[in-house]
Amino acid sequence: MNIVIFGPPGAGKGTQSNLIVNKFKLHQLSTGELLRKEINNNTELGKKISRIINDGNLVSDDIVGKLIEEHISKDSFKNKIIFDGYPRNLIQAKNLESILNKYNQKIDIALKLSVSLETIKKRILERKNLEKRADDKDEIAIKRFETYENNIKPVIDFYKKSKLLKEVNGEASISEINDEISGLINSIKG
Ligand code: AMP
Repeated sequence: MNIVIFGPPGAGKGTQSNLIVNKFKLHQLSTGELLRKEINNNTELGKKISRIINDGNLVSDDIVGKLIEEHISKDSFKNKIIFDGYPRNLIQAKNLESILNKYNQKIDIALKLSVSLETIKKRILERKNLEKRADDKDEIAIKRFETYENNIKPVIDFYKKSKLLKEVNGEASISEINDEISGLINSIKG
């Protein structure tokens, strides 16, 4: 089974993905994490990526597409992936479908975590104190939320049309959200 989880930055995608990974023995593919790894390696590409992320913008579809294909192509990942933070726009949603197709796979469920901007601001402030992420400055956090909102609508429609979309209330507690998501995954596992 392959899962997509999406929601605005600060919605708790990372936290929920971690819990699901352990429960259902999946691999987490977080494009944000992969990009931060690239930055930490201090390559030329990493420096370019760092500027884009710290401005609250999206990295090019080509770069993130290549990063995720490197993992999708691994046998050990086959039908065991939770995509966290990808796709973020319609081009990426279509790219993901064709990359998965190439490796005889598909998405089985798309989980959308819905959270208000107020809650996001509060959570990002809390995270800023814990993780010290360079892109968690207030004004950049709001820019990232807007970037997300501006690009995600066609992705939501894409998964709605293919009847894969399930909406989850991201305002609930971590364990309540996890219970809801686990129930949804179990229901499609049959
Ligand atoms: P995240 O950890 O998912 O919040 O991602 C942090 C930042 O990495 C985002 O604000 C984007 O700048 C970049 N990023 C992550 N995933 C993607 C993606 N799928 N496409 C483009 N940029 C991305």
